Amino acid sequence: MCGIVAYLGKKAAQPILVEGLKRLEYRGYDSAGVALMGSGNIRIRKTSGRIDALEGILCEPDVTETFGIGHTRWATHGEPNTVNAHPHLDYTGKIAVVHNGIVENYGTLKTWLQNEGVEFVSETDTEVITNLIGFFYLNCRDDEQQSPPNGQNKFEWAVQRALRELYGTFGLAIICSDFPNMLIGAKKGSPLILGLGENEYILASDAAAIVEHTTQAIYLADDEMVTVGPDGFHTKTIGNITVSKDLQQIEFSLEQIELGGFEHHMLKEIFEQPRSLKTCMGGRIDGRNHRIKLGGIASYLRDLTRTRRLILTACGTAFHAGLVGEFLFEQLARIPAETEYASEFRYRNPIIEDRTVVVAISQSGETLDTLAAVEEAKERGARVLGIVNVVGSSIARATDAGIYLHAGPEIGVASTKAFTAQVAVLTMLAIELGRRKHISSEQADRHIDELSQIPDKIDTILTQSDQIKEIAAANVDKNNWLFLGRGFNYPVALEGALKLKEISYIHAEGLPAAEMKHGPIALIADGMPAVFIATSGPQYDKIMGNIAEVRARGGRIIVVATEGDENIAQHADHLIMIPDAPEFLQPMLAVVPLQLLAYHAAVLRGHDVDKPRNLAKSVTVE
Ligand code: GLU
Repeated sequence: MCGIVAYLGKKAAQPILVEGLKRLEYRGYDSAGVALMGSGNIRIRKTSGRIDALEGILCEPDVTETFGIGHTRWATHGEPNTVNAHPHLDYTGKIAVVHNGIVENYGTLKTWLQNEGVEFVSETDTEVITNLIGFFYLNCRDDEQQSPPNGQNKFEWAVQRALRELYGTFGLAIICSDFPNMLIGAKKGSPLILGLGENEYILASDAAAIVEHTTQAIYLADDEMVTVGPDGFHTKTIGNITVSKDLQQIEFSLEQIELGGFEHHMLKEIFEQPRSLKTCMGGRIDGRNHRIKLGGIASYLRDLTRTRRLILTACGTAFHAGLVGEFLFEQLARIPAETEYASEFRYRNPIIEDRTVVVAISQSGETLDTLAAVEEAKERGARVLGIVNVVGSSIARATDAGIYLHAGPEIGVASTKAFTAQVAVLTMLAIELGRRKHISSEQADRHIDELSQIPDKIDTILTQSDQIKEIAAANVDKNNWLFLGRGFNYPVALEGALKLKEISYIHAEGLPAAEMKHGPIALIADGMPAVFIATSGPQYDKIMGNIAEVRARGGRIIVVATEGDENIAQHADHLIMIPDAPEFLQPMLAVVPLQLLAYHAAVLRGHDVDKPRNLAKSVTVE
């Protein structure tokens, strides 16, 4: 996590860095700082707290400072105080670094440097990088092993030399006071993009900090670095081999990442779902020819129909989408499927047999655990597909093929529109595989037709936002909640509980409703909210039984039910109606009221919905 931004151009750097950090703040927000290049020295300002706090300690921008780096942190090593905030200055006072990632061998390197007489001031792993570069810079001698090859400058050489010693992940922006016009960026495992403007460069973890200035960018790959100087930019590997990079167009516009009249990004993104789903499905559903066209995996589709086993792997909300996928592939395509936490998958010696396909799901495409699972699966010979939102992200590049969500940038830390788009992509894939295997054209047509109606159905759910707010208000004082569903709606129950935990800090558990009687029912006490997804379908009567069990023990019953269900009102304390749909499409509808419930509960409790405590958007650390 954490956001990095660097500016090198003709304008005053400070306001550009601060603006960029604000756009990246969703990635981390426990401390922040900037380093500005003055004439021959580096000026650092940093503090614990958010970007607002940083602004509070900054002086008026100096127009002669047209070069600098900035950071908004999500601490991994060392508490979020001012000393541990980035940028870090090395012991020589010449090198400043901002870092996203984790240095796994920082303990060994720190001891080694300390034995060499280097003093440390912070508890961070990042300071090891800074001091290591400083050490090599200072000790760059004129002999064969310890000096730059012909033509290479000492700064760049010292960076490469230091990075070769690191285990772990990094996205880095580095400056050196002896090179007042030179910026170095390097990447391994954490994202880094160089935006190319007119007479200016912006290096950042995320395109959100770049689009205001330019839409032309290069995306660094792992083990690559870029040196930006007065004569333009050069990309090479950290091992000093030149690489040429294609210029890419940044896909999203500034308007897409701004609030557009909504109070929070999360609410905006919940309300965007009808549109994001239309974009996700548009061009892929070919109603006339009864086909679903998934360009990214077109050449693999034939092979995919012969899949023996599908393993879906993901973390957090994407994991819940994967669980829905499990049901979808089994029901529609009759392919055995299982969903595994990416963080567990990589460490459990997974069995990958012939014709096993692994599907990795991640909004950002940078989730480190999922990326590591992808690498593990590839090493074991699996074909790996990616379902990601961010074009050109690490997972998109590491997988054999994939399907983009095209849901537009998701800024809210609590994922919403990415979930529905992930489920939509999995549904399209399952229908198409089913059609190629055993579903009749008529049946596939009906499925496709029903799927195309989902965005409009979500629109009708969104009109109930105020009513859902009242339900949240009536229960917001309760500190323990249950979310219960069966079949396709069991993952939705898990997602509803996760949303509530993430942003309102209310303890919540999601469970398959039938599991209640095997233990959790003991939790039910007077007035405890239990949210049931009791929509139409084969398990309706069963879940009504579960509602009765909880009601008999004093639980407060909140039900998400299907429009037209006249029986349900007498069994519920609070009711939310959603349009009818076949069971396999209900998760995309049923999740929406739960997103709104969590949102309103968090706002009523006075929390900062877009920046929940201890969380950051894309988890690029293990
Ligand atoms: N490991 C570094 C720190 O704790 C960077 C963490 C991050 O990526 O936010 O400061």
